[in-house]
Amino acid sequence: MGGAELKRIDCLKAIYPELEECAVVTIMGAVAAELYSLGHRPNFFYLEHAMGLASSIGLGIALSQPSRKVVVIDGDGSVLMNLGGLTTLARSRPRNLVHLIFDNETLLSVGGGAPGGYRWFTTATSTGTDLAGIASAAGFPRARTVRELEDFAAAALDALKGHELSCIVAKVDAEMPKSFLMDLHMLENRFEFPRALQLAIKGRSE
Ligand SMILES: [Mg+2]
Repeated sequence: MGGAELKRIDCLKAIYPELEECAVVTIMGAVAAELYSLGHRPNFFYLEHAMGLASSIGLGIALSQPSRKVVVIDGDGSVLMNLGGLTTLARSRPRNLVHLIFDNETLLSVGGGAPGGYRWFTTATSTGTDLAGIASAAGFPRARTVRELEDFAAAALDALKGHELSCIVAKVDAEMPKSFLMDLHMLENRFEFPRALQLAIKGRSE
């Protein structure tokens, strides 16, 4: 799609070591499976069956734990389903939240990844909707689009080290994950994640 060659999995690998102390909330589907495939951690929450609401969950965590970095890993279809989430984030403007959006211009996990599916499961970003532009107009102090791995890594690491609400839209290949297998029950994840967030952040007392 769009000639993008950037791959989600490579972006995830680039930031994975930095996620240890963060609260990470992903949307369902391909990106959840790929992050899981790199090695699950108790501070990762895969929001299944609530498409569009990863940023809302992330916002609640960011406001309640201001000294913890919160990373929301989203997709174009999910963000488009809840565009108001961007305005709510911008309004609250938590300085500890980084919103990563993998934009493959497709509803990949619900049909776009099937043979030929990319032709009819496209999203509005395939016809020009600019999610970083929307985030910026909503009031995000930082929002940008990246198309190269080096740019993604630099922008993401900068955002993770910074203290400003940030949105990074990565234009990525509409490629299926190697596997959707996640050997982790939703309920187990639901209980282990808040427990992990009760642990103090290293070097800080909450
Ligand atoms: Mg998508």
